[in-house]
Amino acid sequence: MEPNKMESFTRENRILGNFYGTKNSPTVIVFAGIHGNEKAGVFAARNVIAKIRERNLKLRGNLHIILGNINALNKGIRFEHVDLNRIWRNRNIGQLGGDDKEFNAEIIEQKDIFVIIKNILAHEKGPFYFLDLHTTSASSVPFITISDSLNNRKFSSNFPIPVVLGIEEYLDGPLLTFINEYGHIALGFEGGSHESPSSVVNCEAFIWKALVHAKCLKKSHLSDYQEYQKTFLDLGCEYQFFAIKYRYELDQDDDFSMRPGFENFESIDKGEYLATNNGVEINAPRGGKIFMPLYQELGEDGFFILQKISKFWLNASIVARKLKINQFLRLIPGVKKDPENNYTLIVNPKVARFMATPIFHLFGYRQQIYKDNKLHFIKRDRKISEFL
Ligand SMILES: [Zn+2]
Repeated sequence: MEPNKMESFTRENRILGNFYGTKNSPTVIVFAGIHGNEKAGVFAARNVIAKIRERNLKLRGNLHIILGNINALNKGIRFEHVDLNRIWRNRNIGQLGGDDKEFNAEIIEQKDIFVIIKNILAHEKGPFYFLDLHTTSASSVPFITISDSLNNRKFSSNFPIPVVLGIEEYLDGPLLTFINEYGHIALGFEGGSHESPSSVVNCEAFIWKALVHAKCLKKSHLSDYQEYQKTFLDLGCEYQFFAIKYRYELDQDDDFSMRPGFENFESIDKGEYLATNNGVEINAPRGGKIFMPLYQELGEDGFFILQKISKFWLNASIVARKLKINQFLRLIPGVKKDPENNYTLIVNPKVARFMATPIFHLFGYRQQIYKDNKLHFIKRDRKISEFL
């Protein structure tokens, strides 16, 4: 097998590597190629598997490396019918029991992945660490995306790179948001741009470091640990949190074109010329850092604008959550508890518009859905609960 050349995979290859450790705890689960045009994670995962085997590395806990969209990986496309990272909703999962003949390519992939996750959670004792490897269309330093739970923040702090919070408010049905709802740690890692060789290096260093920090592998057993550490330090980034402050959303028929050359996290000024859409110049409505500028055909968002989150806010939110004073949120007029779900608050959008959204964020709630003219805010910190 040539390095960084993709062989074709079948559904039988979905579990790329399965390793059982001496203590069987914790369990690290790595997803690679959830988007079929993002191969860096697959190459990185393959390197990790080869090294574990060549060196006969003894893990303490378990490691499972799972391929995402095999059909799309083989075709070199992001997805065929539907984005495999936008269909992880309970209502979708409920339909997976049906006949495969009724399903499109991605639903079949989802069903396989769901069954694997369910088996791992049922048979292993955890704690569980879910890692999802991606790359971006724009050039980028590596970064992490998480749902804003304190356990996710803590694990992210092992990596000296930017962490973007709350992207799930803008995406419908990503895999890791779904997994987070059962209380498990789940980090998305974006290793760099799709075709850059350094994205493979970054993804590999991320997997090794995650194995060590999850205590699945002893640092002293990994002879080149310092090399992976250096990969991160050489990026010259900091462990810093960012929040999404603006999204430029696209309609299906839009003729959108980003001005060339923007890199993720590049500073932009208010009024800066960023893109054209349907022949109209698009200027930045505010200053900040540009995020996920769209340089590929498929996508619902032209770009986002980020703002750095202050240490004060981060600390205040830890205190607010640890004091468990979130019950008081229900006292705000227009806010009530969802009778069916302890973690959900149902909010009148008029309240949310004026003041509530930043308060909900502080307490670790993120807006998830809009139903019956009400916003649903879902708490990201939660106890481990039984998987479906
Ligand atoms: Zn992706």
